[in-house]
Amino acid sequence: PGLLARLRNAAGLPARQAPGVVAVDDVSLSIRAGEVVGLVGESGCGKSTLGRMAVGLHSLSAGERFWKGELLAGASRLAPHRTSLGMQMIFQDPQASLNPRMRVQDIIGEAPVAHGIVERRRQAEYVETLLERVGLDPAVIRHFPYQFSGGQRARLGIARALAVEPEFLVCDEAVAALDVSIQAQILNLFLRLRDELNLTYLFISHDLHVVHHVSHRIVVMYLGRVVESIAAERLFSDANHPYTRALLAEVPSLEPAKKRFIAIRGEMPSPMAPPSGCHFHPRCPHAMPVCRSEAPPLAEIAPGHHSACHLNHVSA
Ligand code: SF4
Ligand code: MG
Repeated sequence: PGLLARLRNAAGLPARQAPGVVAVDDVSLSIRAGEVVGLVGESGCGKSTLGRMAVGLHSLSAGERFWKGELLAGASRLAPHRTSLGMQMIFQDPQASLNPRMRVQDIIGEAPVAHGIVERRRQAEYVETLLERVGLDPAVIRHFPYQFSGGQRARLGIARALAVEPEFLVCDEAVAALDVSIQAQILNLFLRLRDELNLTYLFISHDLHVVHHVSHRIVVMYLGRVVESIAAERLFSDANHPYTRALLAEVPSLEPAKKRFIAIRGEMPSPMAPPSGCHFHPRCPHAMPVCRSEAPPLAEIAPGHHSACHLNHVSA
């Protein structure tokens, strides 16, 4: 399978960041067709920004984006039309993005009619097929969003994204708002759809275990940088970076939203003013003098396994 999408945001931190905008600093990300890449990190690490960059909803500060081997205008906010339909984003809270005044038929069927994917007179049957595909009763086509549960709304959000026949989905915390039992159902739906429709996913989550369940490859971000990229099946045995290992050592909390990262000592520093050198050094149990002054390069430490840590370059 060939490379589907690649992006590189090359700039260092811009001098002034708009409030609330998290920098993504010198990151490159390549995704193969059919691959599920999990992108993990604490909130504020830049993973949502990177996901938005991948689909063209957020401009690159410098660098380039490729889609199926074609260079897209790197800093352009809007991707070319044909390309942007091929990439869709699914957000955490479908309720916020589902117009409460619209019926399901229009919520799902508006974009494909507008883009000429389906004729208006065939809209209803098109939407019914999509509803079935995501495990909803086609009879709900006349319903409004408030008539659905959280899990059903997640399915609606997925159906709406699928309606424009994308090849690449960026799922940003797509199951974070759901109960654990519903999360598993939606994750399995994502996996089934990948097989049925040959989809490629960038799966963004603060939850390493969620990401591990669905991904082929795991990319870990910390304060705007990728610190490790590893095959999912090797995560538990071979994780290299001290931050990844700290994430793995955590005991899942009963209050995931609040206490998830308590095992890692200290607070995450502000993304606006990251620490010098290795951004993780104030929290790292292995920090050495060089860690304060020099940013470790993301280096291939085994085939297909990249890590950015000075420990990998210290001779014994
Ligand atoms: Fe820790 Fe240094 Fe490695 Fe950063 S580079 S993770 S501070 S040992
Ligand atoms: Mg986010």
